[in-house]
Amino acid sequence: PHPAHPQTPGPYQPPAGPYTQAPGPYAPAPVPYPQAPGPYPLAAACQVCGAAPAAPVTVRGHQGMVVVMRFLRRQGAFCRTCALASFRDMQADTMVMGWWGPLSVLITPFVLLANLSALSGIRRIPGPVTPGWRPPLDPGKPVFRRPAGILALVPLGLLGLVVLAVPLLMLVGMLAGPDGGDGHPTLTAGSCARNDAPWPEQSLRPVGCGSPEAQYRVVDPTDGPCASRDYAADPEYSEDGVTSLCLHALKR
Ligand SMILES: [Zn+2]
Repeated sequence: PHPAHPQTPGPYQPPAGPYTQAPGPYAPAPVPYPQAPGPYPLAAACQVCGAAPAAPVTVRGHQGMVVVMRFLRRQGAFCRTCALASFRDMQADTMVMGWWGPLSVLITPFVLLANLSALSGIRRIPGPVTPGWRPPLDPGKPVFRRPAGILALVPLGLLGLVVLAVPLLMLVGMLAGPDGGDGHPTLTAGSCARNDAPWPEQSLRPVGCGSPEAQYRVVDPTDGPCASRDYAADPEYSEDGVTSLCLHALKR
C-alpha cells in the first residue's frame, strides 16, 4: 500500500488566503465597543496611520492675535493613538496661543472644554487592533506635563479665581442684606418722602405727594443741583445705593 497523497483532504480545512487568521484573543470575543448605531460609529481605518479601529474625532484649537484670531479644527477618522496625539497637541497649543486677545480670553476656555469632551470620546475608542501602513502619531506627554500646560496654569488659575469670585460676591451681597430690607426704603426722583426722625437723623419713607404726611419732593441731583436749603438723603435710600438724592421741602 502506498499513499498517493501524504495528506488527504479532510472535512476540516482552513481557508487559504491573506485573511487566514488563527482565532486570537480578539476573534471570538465580542468587541467591547458597542457596534450599535450611535453618534460615533467606528470608521474603517485611521486616516493618519491606517490602523483600525478608528472613530470620527474633532479636536479644536484657538489662537488669539490681539486683533485677529484663528479657529483651528482637526477632524477625521482617527485611531485611539493618533486621536490622543491630536488632542494633546491642539490642547497644548491652545493653552499657550489661545489667550492673546480680548475675545480670545473668553473663547479659549470653551475650546479647551470642548476638547475635554472630545477626549472622553477618544478614550472610548478601543486601542488599535489592526496595525496601519505607518506608525501612529506620537501622543507624547500628557498636556499638564508639557511646558505649555504648566504655563497655562497661570491663566487657568486666574480664570478659576474669577469663576469663584462671582458666586462669592453674590454671597457677600446676600449677607449684606437686600436693599430696603434693613429699614432703608428706596426713594425715586419725583416721588415724595417723609422723615420720621429729627434731622440730621434720617428715617425716610416714601409717601404719596397728595398725602398730608408728605414733607419733601425727591429730586435726582443728576437732573440739576440741589437747592441750597434742600436736605441730602443718605445714599442707601437711592436705587443704586451711591447717589445722594435731594429732598426739596414741599411748600404748604
Ligand atoms: Zn492612527
